[in-house]
Amino acid sequence: MIPDRDSKSPVCDDITFDHLDLDFPHADVALAVGCGVVCDLTKWLAFKHGIPFAVLATAATMNGFTSANVAPTIRGVKTLLAARAPLAVFAVPSLVAGAPFELTAAGLGDVIAKPISTADWMMNHLFREEHFCRTCSELINSLEPCYFDCPEHIRCRRPQAMEALIQALFYSGIAMTMIGTSAPASGGEHLLSHTLDMMSGLDGRNHDLHGRQVGVGTIVAAALYEKIFEIASPEPGAFPALDRTFWGERMESVRQQYDQKIPSMETMRLKIRHGDLWRDFLDQCRPLLRTPKQIKQCLQTAGAAHTCADIGCSRDRVLAAVLHMHEIRKRPTVVDLAWMLGILPAAAEEIIDRWLIR
Ligand SMILES: [Zn+2]
Repeated sequence: MIPDRDSKSPVCDDITFDHLDLDFPHADVALAVGCGVVCDLTKWLAFKHGIPFAVLATAATMNGFTSANVAPTIRGVKTLLAARAPLAVFAVPSLVAGAPFELTAAGLGDVIAKPISTADWMMNHLFREEHFCRTCSELINSLEPCYFDCPEHIRCRRPQAMEALIQALFYSGIAMTMIGTSAPASGGEHLLSHTLDMMSGLDGRNHDLHGRQVGVGTIVAAALYEKIFEIASPEPGAFPALDRTFWGERMESVRQQYDQKIPSMETMRLKIRHGDLWRDFLDQCRPLLRTPKQIKQCLQTAGAAHTCADIGCSRDRVLAAVLHMHEIRKRPTVVDLAWMLGILPAAAEEIIDRWLIR
């Protein structure tokens, strides 16, 4: 059993890990029965103790079941740790369909990130020569229409849609395991969720489920791509100064990540000035993406979170997250590109007001 903390839901962080580690039993295999936090903590503990782990997924809520990574918060900072992929993953369709609906809707939010994460991966391939694997990137393509084109089937928990959703979550974790990074399933859209989690750690307010926040982040990232695609020939602006605003001052520990990121950003900045490469980027990434309108409609129709209020945030809180989310990850994403092109910070308020208020 994983304890609640401070009368809030359990969290996957160093404090809970240390607590569970004290009484970790001698075992040949660890079995996680649950979803996000339970799965990640078990994966992490099993890895530390050198034993395999398996998972029984009780809800279609996130894609980490099959991945080798753990995404805990350590000393207040959202981190990605390498562990080991599970020996086996089980899901009982009736159990998954009977889970609280907000968990299923969160799973949709996590998997709907795919067009953004794939485009971000392609962007890093073109501008930074990162390896791009077509097979991994297309692993869930055949499942996508089952939930993306008929989100109402998720809302009414139609068995076929539920099965497609849990399979898509499993395969998207497998894609991460195959390639060894989170690139196939986590791009700029995930940064909004990670940043909101970190802000909660700092001011003690609750945050929402990972996938619900990722769904909202996917709308923001798709809106950024839409603006980027309007640029036929870029004239990159100056690299953004480190502004010491409210959250900037409090997220001191992310500064190191931000500094380490500068060399990759410089490479990218030089490359995007190259006209042919920019056109290649537009040609390759446009077909991978969905518009913010399509993403929002899918989430809305499915009954998933798609506004600031849905994820329990004020407009200003989401704005703070949008303006700082590029600071927390070394690998560049659409959010960095938007800063480089001068789309951010200016467009942040407009995007929130247009897409995330109603
Ligand atoms: Zn995710």
